[in-house]
Amino acid sequence: MTLAIRNQKHNWHPYTQHKTAPIPIAIVKGEGALLWDENGKEYLDAIASWWVNPYGHANPVIANAIYKQLTTIEHVLFGGFTHEPAVVLSEKLMAILPDNQNKIFYSDNGSTSVEIAIKVSMQYFFNQGIKKTKIIAFEDAFHGDTFGAMAASGISFFTEAFKDSLIEVVRIPVPTKGNEEASLKALTELVTTDECAAFIFEPLVQGAAGMVMYAPEILNQLIALCKKHKVFTIADEVMTGFGKTGKNFACDYLTEMPDMMCISKALTGGAIPMAITTFTQEIFDGFYDDDTNKALFHGHTFTANPTGCAAALASLELLQSAEMQANLKRINKRHLDFESKIKSHPKIKTTRVLGVILALEIKSAIQETYYGSMRTLLYDFFIKNGVILRPVGNIVYVLPPYVMTDEQLDKVYQVIENVLEIV
Ligand SMILES: *Cc1c(COP(=O)(O)O)cnc(C)c1O
Repeated sequence: MTLAIRNQKHNWHPYTQHKTAPIPIAIVKGEGALLWDENGKEYLDAIASWWVNPYGHANPVIANAIYKQLTTIEHVLFGGFTHEPAVVLSEKLMAILPDNQNKIFYSDNGSTSVEIAIKVSMQYFFNQGIKKTKIIAFEDAFHGDTFGAMAASGISFFTEAFKDSLIEVVRIPVPTKGNEEASLKALTELVTTDECAAFIFEPLVQGAAGMVMYAPEILNQLIALCKKHKVFTIADEVMTGFGKTGKNFACDYLTEMPDMMCISKALTGGAIPMAITTFTQEIFDGFYDDDTNKALFHGHTFTANPTGCAAALASLELLQSAEMQANLKRINKRHLDFESKIKSHPKIKTTRVLGVILALEIKSAIQETYYGSMRTLLYDFFIKNGVILRPVGNIVYVLPPYVMTDEQLDKVYQVIENVLEIV
């Protein structure tokens, strides 16, 4: 029996209707941007395995760092103890994070990093005896699948079953081109109510919504407005972090800095689940007190796991290497060239590029849904042709590992051009 068949007996997959979904592909090996399945078929991973793997699969630098850490101290509790990988990683992260960030809380994944930011926002005001419990978020946002993160997410069919059990989140329009004023106006109304603890957003790119992009100028204005009214701002950089937008963080395009940042996905180069939430000193000080009850009573068993920290340190070194920085520029240029070639194609409605992210919206006579028929046709065509792309409805996006070669990029662009012939 193949792995793919044996898999069906016990494994429950994410975002999957098992009754109708095709059986999953069993991957047995990876190297760079390539993956191989159990039948020897080769795939190009053009979405960096859900945006986590910039430096290539089975990267030896990360693997060696993990091995060395595992054979020194694999794990130790972070309550009452600390260790060199966490101390050094925090120092190195601080060197590249925006200047106003000063404290780091470690957790396991993007959703937990968001939960922590939301809990911190609410408890900061609670500690002062102030009632501010609502959270502001964008329409079509995605912040994760745990309860707080899910509440902040705005993709409705993900959260429909739970809508009566969620914290109160109020939504404002995404300030895409032409919608800036509407977004600013909606935020102005909310921040003046004195009920909102925080505004959470995916800076510049809404990943799960289909790589929806908006400009730094309007985000600066939204952040400044929150600052004026003492509403905390939370930049969810879980997807955008570590080079995806062409800079270390999407916030590096801003002049107004957020109070908190959520970071995960590429943090360990896709090797070990890990996340951080970062804070200004002011926020930390809101918990610093003689009263034990004012502490942040939040933690995870694997908080600041040394092996995860070692993988993150190796990943940071890779990111900062001249080779990887050149890759970021190279891929951006290739994307821009392909964009100018494809944007007048009769089947293409809109295109956008930021950093290594390229998104194309395919024309459709009907309103396409997230997992609708157009999506199935596109996805199946790409897989058949050995390219892993996961379109969102009629939006095809490419977010390759930074190590993807020019020849491999050509293949990805070609398969997209080919699919336009059949849609
Ligand atoms: C993926 C993602 C999350 C959730 O991260 P998980 O590790 O899947 O829990 C949160 N926010 C953004 C912007 C993401 O892209």
